[in-house]
Amino acid sequence: MSLNFTCSLNPARIVFGCGAVARVADALRGLGGRRALILSTPFQKADAEALAATLGDLAAGVFSGAAMHTPVEVTETAMTVFAETGADCVVALGGGSTIGLGKAIAWRTDCAQLVIATTYAGSEVTPILGQTENGLKTTLRDRRVLPEAVIYDPDLTLGLPVGMSVTSGLNAMAHAIEGVYAQDRNPVASLLALEGVRALKAALPAIVADPRDPQGRSDALYGAWLCGTVLGSVGMALHHKLCHTLGGSFDLPHAETHSVMIPHTAAYNAAAAAAAMAPLAALFGGEIGGGLWDFAKGLGAPMALRDLGLAEADLDRAADLAVKNPYWNPRPVERGAIRALLQDAWEGRRPGS
Ligand code: NAD
Repeated sequence: MSLNFTCSLNPARIVFGCGAVARVADALRGLGGRRALILSTPFQKADAEALAATLGDLAAGVFSGAAMHTPVEVTETAMTVFAETGADCVVALGGGSTIGLGKAIAWRTDCAQLVIATTYAGSEVTPILGQTENGLKTTLRDRRVLPEAVIYDPDLTLGLPVGMSVTSGLNAMAHAIEGVYAQDRNPVASLLALEGVRALKAALPAIVADPRDPQGRSDALYGAWLCGTVLGSVGMALHHKLCHTLGGSFDLPHAETHSVMIPHTAAYNAAAAAAAMAPLAALFGGEIGGGLWDFAKGLGAPMALRDLGLAEADLDRAADLAVKNPYWNPRPVERGAIRALLQDAWEGRRPGS
């Protein structure tokens, strides 16, 4: 078949390797930054303060109030600190929650952002920002929120708890799996997706066996970068719509929800996108949905929505919401089939069983 595609890859400087965090000052100067506000969650405050201490005058201060889903109230407080400390750029040290805060500040100020990514969620290489106000989450896509530089230092992920490593890694894989059948898919994004899933598939069992395994940590972060790049390059489909619905309307946790749902959504689309998914399916024994479910179970991942706090009585409303304004999907999004998928995911049943 002849090729016919449009491909936009996001520009960003990537610095990858053990010890790369020592290059923060150089990276900041490369961006023209003179005074960086260092961002973190409360949990990573001590790491943010230690980083600030190594930066001397390049650090304007630390704001450690980042929270899941980028609440606008938190952003407003951080904006005050940004102004009061005379900061001209931000360094986000952490996962998607901290990166979201950095993006929210950049969206409002157009300041430069350096991210030191410490989970596998992938937000650091996307121009996407989700924000919450009065319980409502809205998402925007804009060049201004794309971080200019990213440092990936596997050493900083050695302490990421095994459970979070597994669900965050499956979250990353979900970006790649949806990327290969995206409406605007292209050969480069599909190559990145396959390599990203391959790297994570090798890394996650190694991390479960030994959370401080340097090869496993390096492969996982490499895979996360590739999968995040796919998320930032092409559109997402049913899986991301369902996860946004479950997270946004039922307050389910982000990475765990992706982790439970991906075998089911991949199985839903398996026949409709068989050719696009064939190289990925081959990595999982030829059956993408069941193979992913077996893989996740073997890693000790949560397998059922009921274990994440969703009530069975909520499944009807979740199905209604998911079919309302659906994202483009290779297989038509039908309410009955989606309701059945959600029941399987709620019970933790293997797809197709
Ligand atoms: P997170 O950033 O909420 O981190 C969870 C917890 O783990 C936090 O307390 C954090 O401080 C801690 N943590 C992070 N790295 C650690 C490490 N190496 N060691 C020990 N603890 C560590 O979790 P997440 O899954 O990375 O991000 C989820 C959020 O990101 C959601 O709000 C989601 O919507 C958003 N997200 C956005 C995009 C995008 O492109 N806009 C992409 C993916 C996720």
